[in-house]
Amino acid sequence: MNVFIKEISSVIQPDPNKPFLVVLGAGESGVGAALLAKQKGYQVFVSDMGQIKDVYKRELLESGIDFEEGSHNESFILEHAALVIKSPGIPDKAPLVKALKEKGIKIIDEIEFAAQFSKAKIIAVTGSNGKTTTTRLIFHMLQTAGFDVGLAGNVGFSLAKQVAEGDREFYALEISSFQLDGCKKFRPFISILTNITPDHLDRYEYKLENYIASKFRIAQNKLDADLFIYNAEDENIANGFGQFWKQIGTEGCIAISMKALANDSDYLVVEHTDFSIKKSELTIQGWHNRFNISCAVLAAKELGIGNKKIAEALKTFVNEAHRLESVAEINGVEYINDSKATNVDSVFYALEAMTKPVVWIVGGVDKGNDYSPLFELVAQKVKAVICMGKDNSKILEAFKNSVDIIVETGSMQEALKAASLYANEGDVVLLSPACASFDLFNNYQHRGNVFKEIVSSAIVESEK
Ligand code: ADP
Repeated sequence: MNVFIKEISSVIQPDPNKPFLVVLGAGESGVGAALLAKQKGYQVFVSDMGQIKDVYKRELLESGIDFEEGSHNESFILEHAALVIKSPGIPDKAPLVKALKEKGIKIIDEIEFAAQFSKAKIIAVTGSNGKTTTTRLIFHMLQTAGFDVGLAGNVGFSLAKQVAEGDREFYALEISSFQLDGCKKFRPFISILTNITPDHLDRYEYKLENYIASKFRIAQNKLDADLFIYNAEDENIANGFGQFWKQIGTEGCIAISMKALANDSDYLVVEHTDFSIKKSELTIQGWHNRFNISCAVLAAKELGIGNKKIAEALKTFVNEAHRLESVAEINGVEYINDSKATNVDSVFYALEAMTKPVVWIVGGVDKGNDYSPLFELVAQKVKAVICMGKDNSKILEAFKNSVDIIVETGSMQEALKAASLYANEGDVVLLSPACASFDLFNNYQHRGNVFKEIVSSAIVESEK
């Protein structure tokens, strides 16, 4: 029976012979966890404060899993839950989570739950930036080499759902700090930590050390035979090592130097391996992507994949949209959508990757940004700054001395109109906002799609 009624206890009778598992949050990970839990013999109840998407409701109904939406029946959950799987989006300060903790009820993440039912070797990627790209690179390399591999975590389908549908031999898994917070025993065979820049600090009591500790959970159960790949020069990672080196040990830890990748050579040579490739053969460009590729190559080599297959994968790799995505060329001006660049660090690497003069569209909801790391690059490469947001004051102030042209706009339409005025043949218009999107858009995908739609309609106009 699937219900939402106040007197839920009169409708759902907990079975004394089955452990009662509550899933909080019915998104991709929550529904996956519910399906797996039911298969493994739990009595499952899913509870979501908001409205559950139709696609997930259907899955729950078809599997005969009880759920409620629009509210949590707190007293029912507190009375019966033996184990809770919490969506990573629900913060620890949520009243129900606090009450569950006070009662000593165990709360874990879907990844932690799913991994214990899987025999697969997991290659897990975390970091403030580069997770999706690196995870997808690894997935593509393994697929190209003919491995039985799933793509899971924040990309692809939830790990739990894939385990429920038939386990794989390998998973390439993107894992966020929020997911890691709900992991105690999770042990990837290969873990990768790309970088740590201050982000999401509102979830970490505004303490950077808490966020660092969260990221290091990816390697907290590492055995000597496992591999931990990390960024050699990242200060926050060095800091974390200072704290956690005893758990991680020194065996099987490989640092990749970003500095070593910042050269003008025609080849990318991957440290600690015999692999190299001509940069012009790569489908993703930029210093940051050379780092992401290096991490992925190291992982692939560890799994025994040969150089030929790795090169083949790199030549055919297609990244997820909204990451330095070249959209079109109109009248000799290239338009690039980097809407996923929601912080200063990712914009730094986007600008660094630009080889033509840039008209830069930036702005949105500022997350307490310090723009100073961008000043030099902006002065070198940017000919016009187009601010796009409800409140552009901070960006106007930050860049007023770095460029001659700085324009204020309040919509994508206006921003692209202004950009086309200042961009000449041979230039690039780069949307790389450094900010969250929700002042003008639903999310970064929406922002990137609006950019692409307007650019596409301009192509049609220019061809008339
Ligand atoms: P994540 O999944 O961690 O958000 P993505 O691969 O989706 O990472 O990339 C997000 C943004 O960060 C994009 O704008 C991308 O160009 C940039 N980026 C990707 N890799 C890195 C990296 N290693 N360091 C800094 N920025 C990066």
